[in-house]
Amino acid sequence: MIYTDLHIHSCLSPCGDDAMTPGEIVRAARDAGLDLIALTDHNSARNCPAAAAAAREAGLGFIPGVEVTTSEEIHCICLFPDLGKAAAFSRWLDSLRPGFSNRPAVFGRQTVMGSTGRRTEERELLFMARRVSLTELPGAVRQYGGLFWPAHVDKPSNSLYSILGCWPEDFQADAAELYFSQEPAGIPASIKRLRASNAHRLRDIRGPGFPLPLESPDFTGLKNYLRG
Ligand SMILES: [Zn+2]
Ligand SMILES: [Zn+2]
Repeated sequence: MIYTDLHIHSCLSPCGDDAMTPGEIVRAARDAGLDLIALTDHNSARNCPAAAAAAREAGLGFIPGVEVTTSEEIHCICLFPDLGKAAAFSRWLDSLRPGFSNRPAVFGRQTVMGSTGRRTEERELLFMARRVSLTELPGAVRQYGGLFWPAHVDKPSNSLYSILGCWPEDFQADAAELYFSQEPAGIPASIKRLRASNAHRLRDIRGPGFPLPLESPDFTGLKNYLRG
């Protein structure tokens, strides 16, 4: 088994704790005994290069990703095969911004960690909805070679079931991320179920993680399992 946490926020997310630097996230994941993590900040992959470098050094499996807010305000996890694809997708998302500046004192800081540890602030408020619908997003993610699934589908806000009330027919998802123990009705049997921490603070990154029977702790291992 590979022990995973495929939904983690860094200090780039306004709601993420300032202590959630890529280096500290990797350290916490190693301490918790995890094998594979994904970084999924709100609507940006800009901290993925620093997290990938820290994970490589620590021998931890890492997948770059984004938690996209669709125009319906539904959160979706999008993971990518490499940093280049994640960065290209992130730039495409930037073109769909609504144009609200962050107010760090109100919403929280949005810190980008450079490879040399240099910190800059993302100025656009990241968690606002992007101009992409739930119908359009899966196809867009696949153009970048990525995997896609709705996040915390059963949560009372920003989720598939809180907004739409059902699993849509012909929905092109690679998985479903569950939050509560009781699963909502209507998720097709063919869809793999996932769980993750949705960590915003270092203490949220805990063992044992969610076990998955992957061939390898990486994107290919995950893709083969979800689509296999
Ligand atoms: Zn979310
Ligand atoms: Zn999240």
